[in-house]
Amino acid sequence: MTSPKFDNSYARLPDRFYTKMPPTPVAAPSIIALNDGLADQMGLDLEWLRSDAGLAMLAGNAMPDGAEPLAQAYAGHQFGGWSPQLGDGRANVLGEVVGPDGARWDIQLKGSGPTPYSRMGDGRAGLGPVMREYIVSEAMNALGVPTTRALAAVSTGETVARETLQPGAILTRVAGSHIRVGTFQYFAARQDREALELLLNHTIGRHYPHVDEGDGLGFLNAVIVAQAELVAKWMGLGFIHGVMNTDNTHVGGLTIDYGPCAFMDAYHPATVFSSIDQGGRYVYQGQPEVLVWNLAQLASCVLPFIDSDKDKAITAAQDALATFGDHYTKAWKRVFFAKIGYETGGDAQVTMVQDLLTRMADNQADFTRVFRALARGQGAREEFVDPTSFDEWERDWDGGDAALMRAVNPAIIPRNHRVEEAIQAGLQGDYAPFHRLNAALENPFVDSPEFSDLEAAPTQQQMVRQTFCGT
Ligand code: AMP
Ligand code: MG
Repeated sequence: MTSPKFDNSYARLPDRFYTKMPPTPVAAPSIIALNDGLADQMGLDLEWLRSDAGLAMLAGNAMPDGAEPLAQAYAGHQFGGWSPQLGDGRANVLGEVVGPDGARWDIQLKGSGPTPYSRMGDGRAGLGPVMREYIVSEAMNALGVPTTRALAAVSTGETVARETLQPGAILTRVAGSHIRVGTFQYFAARQDREALELLLNHTIGRHYPHVDEGDGLGFLNAVIVAQAELVAKWMGLGFIHGVMNTDNTHVGGLTIDYGPCAFMDAYHPATVFSSIDQGGRYVYQGQPEVLVWNLAQLASCVLPFIDSDKDKAITAAQDALATFGDHYTKAWKRVFFAKIGYETGGDAQVTMVQDLLTRMADNQADFTRVFRALARGQGAREEFVDPTSFDEWERDWDGGDAALMRAVNPAIIPRNHRVEEAIQAGLQGDYAPFHRLNAALENPFVDSPEFSDLEAAPTQQQMVRQTFCGT
């Protein structure tokens, strides 16, 4: 058995990037889930992970040799308001490993105890949010969406106080990095040019190796493209992130920080789930626009590395940001054309997609079920309150490529009511629904009779109308 071979590049950055500190031990840890496939991909020894030493690491109780746990510093705009000091208030990056394919992974514990960035928080995570992030982040990966991953979930044997008392848990989150727009903002706000340059080059090395060192504009353009692609994928799955604050916007173009996120059942562009999003800032249809706002914050941080002449740098950054729309539209077309079975298309196909979406919104049609039904060649019209509305649309549609649609329109998504059901069972100590849901979500594009119940839309009673951070 071998413990992870760490190579901690972030820990080699200067002290002001983080606080080096170990996680706070927990009373009685036990494994809820261990992601074998991901462990393999990362080159980790499964037998070791399952050993007492492995569990001790996943619980934050004892660090293996080579780990250099730290809490990262970052800042961010939360719902548009500036917070100069956020940071990992309940997380520790233990270190980095390089997988057999050369990919570098941060191993992070989320819920691992208080840090200097905890503010009023207890540094812990509840079982519900940990299960939710495990399910949804792994589902996103299987759905083809760039995302942080879930390597493990453990229960701590302790209790956390939220709206109610809840068992404590820790998620082992892994990702190519945990660098956010807010990480850049942290140093820009402190006018720490040296740190910004180190961060820029560190990030380029980890996420955009084709960009030259020190090339702020090349970096900005790369992030713009990655984020445009990402949000188009969210839109194509009916995914609503819910808290697109700049500290929750990953510079590598990954989905990060699954809090009150949700998948729409019935399609409506104005859908908002999060209980804390009173103004609807992070509404489904508003997500691309919010990203541009977040990317503008990133742009302002890297101006010194775009041009030494500030006016020229601003103009170049604005020009770069102005390309987001084109990148997004291109990605949106690719995603939504494929959803109706077309590799490519033009204005007529855009109109077809928009017409279908409008009819779906008018008819409370289930987003996932309608598109999967198109791939199956039957069942779509029944999803519409007025089925003739679909018939009218279908008259102009030539059927599309079924194989293409099957590959992009999932049969199974982590429906809110199913996630909720799995969490409620978990809170009672029964993890069977959680494991079953995870198993089904490993192959979301396959019609599996054994999981067909998970395809159903919620009944009025099952429907989840609001989601909570639960942090
Ligand atoms: P989030 O809303 O999860 O993106 O978190 C925003 C900020 O609050 C981050 O700095 C988190 O580390 C911090 N935070 C969230 N929950 C807790 C908690 N229970 N204890 C300490 N800090 C927390
Ligand atoms: Mg966050």
